Amino acid sequence: MLGAAAGDIIGSIYEGATQPFNEDFPLAAWNSHFTDDTVLTVAVADAILTGGDYQSALIRYARRYPDAGYGGGFRKWMRSDDPRPYNSFGNGSAMRVSPIGWAFDTAADVLAEAERSAAVTHNHPEGIKGAQAVALAIFYARTGIEKSAILREIQDRFGYRLDEPLAILRPGFQFDVTCQGTVPPALIAFNESDSLESAIRKAVSLGGDADTLGAICGSVAEAYYRRFPGEILEIIKKKLPDEFLEVFRAFYQRFVQR
Ligand SMILES: [Mg+2]
Repeated sequence: MLGAAAGDIIGSIYEGATQPFNEDFPLAAWNSHFTDDTVLTVAVADAILTGGDYQSALIRYARRYPDAGYGGGFRKWMRSDDPRPYNSFGNGSAMRVSPIGWAFDTAADVLAEAERSAAVTHNHPEGIKGAQAVALAIFYARTGIEKSAILREIQDRFGYRLDEPLAILRPGFQFDVTCQGTVPPALIAFNESDSLESAIRKAVSLGGDADTLGAICGSVAEAYYRRFPGEILEIIKKKLPDEFLEVFRAFYQRFVQR
């Protein structure tokens, strides 16, 4: 949710950065901006608030913000008269899923709904898995499960390797837009963090698909730490259109502040 938007905006100007790149970078600059990660997260939140039609919400928002950095397959899908899932395992299913971790109240419901939100485009097993892993991590985080237990559970259930530290991943980290190349490092960055800000800094500082790493990591870290730094909230308010903030406000009122 807001943690995803924060990671997206903060990471936006570092997309494609290569190593060496450390965590000590400015959080925002004049050209920091939201991208597809935020647009489609808002679409999923809006769909949940209004009855659960993920496909039409995704298409509506994507067409309203057509230049937000979508991948080629998604661009074709969003313009199609007869949109069909295209077997993607890109990280798009995981970057947009965070509202589901908040809105549903059992692990089984979270997993089922994450699959539904992914399957309209990312019906490849890795695409479904990426969405489910992130949504479930958020659900566990917001229900007070310890960080190490969250990581263990995700590793066991989904078969991701989460025991490599960032120090090992960092040298030679590659631009990778797959679920399986993005979700594990984002969760490892979360594991090594001690706040929302440090989580986003660690994820973004891997470079590559920095905005999506930041979005996924930020969405889990927000649920775990619960303290949302004022400085980052100000960045979000400055960089997002009012209609996004309205959806977030309605969503937080109904599902987060309860
Ligand atoms: Mg993006």
